Amino acid sequence: MTTESLTVRDGIVVSFNYTLRLADGELLDSSEQDGPLQYLHGYNQIIPGLENAMAGMKVGDAKDVVVAPEDAYGERVPNAKQLVPHDAFGDDADLELGMQLQLQDTETGSIFTAFVSEIRPEGVVLDFNHPLAGETLYFHVDIADLREATPEEIAHGHVHGEGHQH
Ligand code: ZN
Repeated sequence: MTTESLTVRDGIVVSFNYTLRLADGELLDSSEQDGPLQYLHGYNQIIPGLENAMAGMKVGDAKDVVVAPEDAYGERVPNAKQLVPHDAFGDDADLELGMQLQLQDTETGSIFTAFVSEIRPEGVVLDFNHPLAGETLYFHVDIADLREATPEEIAHGHVHGEGHQH
């Protein structure tokens, strides 16, 4: 099967260029520096609103995609911030604003994600919302390449590209 006849569907490795803007036009992210982003379609590797919009596209197709918060990073939950003392983090924790942390509740053992939203003398303010929660996202995408995934990629549910490690 030639590349030209492929369309985006489950089990296709998609390489695409994109820009991501907020409602006010601020450019948040783009593929310009690192080149096209790759993902395995149908395996929840990208936000659902974008993945759904990609279905059926062909190499060279371009599209504007508007993704509501519920199909992106969710609505923002108020009061989901917590001040955690510095000594709760290891001595070698090199915390930076916006950094994503995987934390474990010492009582229940459950793992959850938080983002560093402020660093104060008395501690670190963690925000349990994703930084893009509550935002409508404005993508412009174009398809750079499509290929069938390998059986191994399908089994793993992700792309095996350059530098892939397990
Ligand atoms: Zn793998």
